[in-house]
Amino acid sequence: MATASPTHVERCRFEVGGIVQGVGFRPFTHRLAARLGLVGHVRNAGARVEIEVEGASEAVDAFAAALVVEAPAAARVEHVARVDLPPRGGSEFRIAASGPGATVPAVGPDLATCDDCLRELLDPGDRRYRYPFLACTACGPRFTVVRALPYDRERTTLDAFPLCADCRAEYEDPRDRRFHAEAIACPACGPRLSLALDEALAVLRAGGILAVKGLGGWHLACDAADDAALARLRARKARDAKPFAVMTARPEALVALGAGEEALLRSAARPIVLAPRLPDAGVSEQVAPGSRRLGVLLPYTPLHHLLVSDLGRPLVMTSGNRSDEPIAVGDDEARDRLGTIADAFLGHDRPIHRRCEDSVVCGAFPVRRSRGLAPAPLALPIAARRTIVAAGGQLKGTFCVAKGDRAWLSPHLGDLDNDAARRAFRRDLALYLDMLAARPEVVAHDLHPDYASTAWALEQDVELVGVQHHHAHAAACLAEHGETSPALAIVLDGTGYGTDGTLWGGELLRCDLESFERIAHLEPVPLPGGERAVREPWRVAAAYLERAGRAVPFERWPLVRQSLAVNAPLSSGAGRLLDAVAALLGVRDIVSYEGQAAIELEALAGDTVADPYPCRRAGGALAGGDLVAAAHDDLRDGRRRAEIAAAVHEGVASAFADACAAAGDADTVVLSGGCLQNVRLAASLRRRLAAHGFTVLTHRLVPPNDGGLSYGQAAVAAARRS
Ligand code: ZN
Ligand code: ZN
Ligand code: FE
Repeated sequence: MATASPTHVERCRFEVGGIVQGVGFRPFTHRLAARLGLVGHVRNAGARVEIEVEGASEAVDAFAAALVVEAPAAARVEHVARVDLPPRGGSEFRIAASGPGATVPAVGPDLATCDDCLRELLDPGDRRYRYPFLACTACGPRFTVVRALPYDRERTTLDAFPLCADCRAEYEDPRDRRFHAEAIACPACGPRLSLALDEALAVLRAGGILAVKGLGGWHLACDAADDAALARLRARKARDAKPFAVMTARPEALVALGAGEEALLRSAARPIVLAPRLPDAGVSEQVAPGSRRLGVLLPYTPLHHLLVSDLGRPLVMTSGNRSDEPIAVGDDEARDRLGTIADAFLGHDRPIHRRCEDSVVCGAFPVRRSRGLAPAPLALPIAARRTIVAAGGQLKGTFCVAKGDRAWLSPHLGDLDNDAARRAFRRDLALYLDMLAARPEVVAHDLHPDYASTAWALEQDVELVGVQHHHAHAAACLAEHGETSPALAIVLDGTGYGTDGTLWGGELLRCDLESFERIAHLEPVPLPGGERAVREPWRVAAAYLERAGRAVPFERWPLVRQSLAVNAPLSSGAGRLLDAVAALLGVRDIVSYEGQAAIELEALAGDTVADPYPCRRAGGALAGGDLVAAAHDDLRDGRRRAEIAAAVHEGVASAFADACAAAGDADTVVLSGGCLQNVRLAASLRRRLAAHGFTVLTHRLVPPNDGGLSYGQAAVAAARRS
């Protein structure tokens, strides 16, 4: 016969790891304990949250379950350790002062303005009505304002703004949604704009260019429908054609959005989402010339919300820099560097501690994993035994710090081609190591001797691990899927340094995280003039055609041809092959940014149906030249250019899928490299590989382009047990 047992009192300590600071975790814990009638305390301890609760054992169990299930949306609970303690009694549950803790630190990414804050922003009766810096525990800056951990106000750039009595009351009231919101602010006590919003809007309405201080740096903004404003912006910024992103409250009026894209746009990360442009999108052709897609994003700070809703039209929002320099962060720096570009500056007095550019997502994969996503850690399938710092590549630079089974991939740093970028790389890395309380014990790097990241690595007086470029791409994809078994890897890329000193980039590897074997690749072609051939794809087209015994249609060729004898490094890059076809088809013979010709070739192919051009395979060499020759002959015979472009895309995909089938000793294929951002090429590869019975893994968490390299390098270094 069952009898009711007397209530048993228990005391437990929970240590919660993951992204649990700066996301309203302590207030959540406080409400939960109150609901369950538990006493005890919660505090930030190092990078973790430490909780002690005491009460009826059923209530303690319910607390443990709810900690994970009901955690705030912005939190990521990765790990909860539970220890039983002797009961001690007590009369309340309180939030205790932060303490130290010897754990791996984590700080969450910046979060877009939440719905509750947005309601206040637009409510004339609220004391924060139209206040551009409101935030709460569910939204606002984190990574970009944190100087050190634990995440508390005095260790953020908001320490210069003492709370007013009203804010203090909210901050201390456990029932308030701003209870311990570290970025709390109001018009009475918080940061202020440096320019009246009306004046800023007048500049935009008059077709001017406005510099706007954001979360992780400055933007340049102008009316996205104003051709003249865009022409001025492009001229002053020295950026001919590279697409700009558009900030709008109504993205559905500009681009076709699937359910997945809609969700991404509205996620707390608020990335730029690349989506097919609608034919009647009311923005200037100059926003993204030659591209089928348009990058759109929603307002993500209160200031953006005010700007966009007051202006009532889409705004170009592009990084505050000239050409390829790093984005401007400091106020003086912005006035210095953007003074000749912007007509006015809309700044404020909340300092930015860390640079962080906008994230960009295309379909299911990130093109740039940055604001809102970094620095959330990624898992490493093989844990690092020591602290690894991976230096990344040269273009789309990132670095990655690995400790144990966690890897912190940095935000996007831009191209490391100039001194300003190289200085910013070193500064950002130092700040990042500081945040993670990390000191490099192993440094992983690309094999390219001229990369600025390699140069930094070689200066470090620690163990070095060189990782081949395309192996790092493949490893990044393996690692994000937790895959440690050997697999085949198709890496289609621009150029990367090969182990034989030539430039690789159209590769079929057999690899695992530790090592690789090159089993097939596009036949190398000489790049007449080296780097110049990358900027002038017609040179590559000429080299391919001459090899194939076809007439070269470019007048400049006889002059340039001589460079074959002096400066013509060999490249097997898939990007170069697609560039050559683009030049041949008259799409583009000179590019103004990396990947431009290939992007326009993809746009030309569109959804046009075509059979693949055949591509001979002899041993491990795939005759990419066959595709160029076939394209040349079809063009001569008057075939539609869209069909030719489609047949080339299908030809590349079918050549690599068939080579995988011939290699036949693995059942998984990973796809990586910058060319896999080509949606048509990726889709064709997936379809063909699936038909051969392969499981296909593609990037979901890190970019297929060089922005993902450092994560791959870290995974390789960890797997080598260094
Ligand atoms: Zn909020
Ligand atoms: Zn206040
Ligand atoms: Fe690459």
